[in-house]
Amino acid sequence: MKPKTKMIHGGTVTGDELTGAVSVPIYQVSTYKQDAVGKHKGYEYSRTGNPTRHALETLIADLENGKAGFAFGSGMAAITSVMMLLNAGDHVVMTDDVYGGTYRLTTKVLNRFNLAHTYVDTSDAAQVEAAIKPNTKALYIETPTNPLLKITDLKKMSEIAKKNNLLLIVDNTFATPYWQQPIDFGADIVLHSATKYIGGHSDVVSGLVVVNSDQLAEDLHFIQNSVGGVLGPQDSWLLIRGIKTLGLRMEAIEKNTHAIVEFLENHPQVSTIYYPGLKSHKGHEVAKTQAGGFGGMISFDVGSGEKADEVICKAKYFTLAESLGAVESLISVPAKMTHASIPAERRAELGITDGLIRISVGIEDSEDLIEDLKQAME
Ligand SMILES: *Cc1c(COP(=O)(O)O)cnc(C)c1O
Repeated sequence: MKPKTKMIHGGTVTGDELTGAVSVPIYQVSTYKQDAVGKHKGYEYSRTGNPTRHALETLIADLENGKAGFAFGSGMAAITSVMMLLNAGDHVVMTDDVYGGTYRLTTKVLNRFNLAHTYVDTSDAAQVEAAIKPNTKALYIETPTNPLLKITDLKKMSEIAKKNNLLLIVDNTFATPYWQQPIDFGADIVLHSATKYIGGHSDVVSGLVVVNSDQLAEDLHFIQNSVGGVLGPQDSWLLIRGIKTLGLRMEAIEKNTHAIVEFLENHPQVSTIYYPGLKSHKGHEVAKTQAGGFGGMISFDVGSGEKADEVICKAKYFTLAESLGAVESLISVPAKMTHASIPAERRAELGITDGLIRISVGIEDSEDLIEDLKQAME
């Protein structure tokens, strides 16, 4: 099956056998009648399993070429549950500019449970190898990253992980399973904030995980059921609906993004553009080998915080908001918004300046988006 067909016909459940309904029903239910003690039709209690959630879970496993999928109440619930595969005393090597919430989880919560983390620039394999300790159990990668869209070589990371017996975990939120399937490059676990491109309509908060082995599937189901951060049936249905157009949306976003980057490249007020589709981007060659598209995120520097504020206030079609990956274009200033919780010195180290603007390109007409940016930057 080709990708766009898979988005419609993938997973093990399509529609409803009982009625012929073409869309998967929303099983708004917590418990299930048993014919005799322990004799049931596969579902006992909806924390353990729910048919609508199950339909979504098999679909995402299919899209990521994995063994099993799991749906959670948010991306952070998904990441927390994956981290709970580890034990106190273990150590994880992580991408240095991971999502701010992931940074907060590891440095303010998981550290209290004696789970240690080292942050390195994972686009440099030597730094990754140097950070591995005797108690390192996992390598946690985000690629592309936010907001500088740094690229990490998945194949190289997989080689390092195999050599050192580490779990390779990849946050694939920015690339989506339409453009990038990390399991094909050797990842053990792939996860998403499905709040972003997978949901795609700014209407649901959710997280998805896919694992590549039966053992990990069993272990993560045990954690999902024990910890309980599951996704509800309504939200599961919204994600199934979102996935049906994921391929179309990503293609439209890709086209719009190319057009906007071309406009920004020729704009005198833009000093630096971060976009992996540019030949000048450090990760361009690697991105080309592991992803079918470069995604819809662009960051660019307009020189100062004041100028950035001005552009953001004047933009009409770019909604000032956190988050990304929806049908509507969004705009933000990472230093003051998504990355405000990161100390100023660390932001400077990472290159997140006050004049840096991040846009998440939507599926509007690119002519309107470019016209809007043009007037906002005047
Ligand atoms: C948003 C985001 C998360 C967190 O997901 P939530 O659904 O907001 O909990 C994790 N990783 C990345 C890359 C994100 O963009």
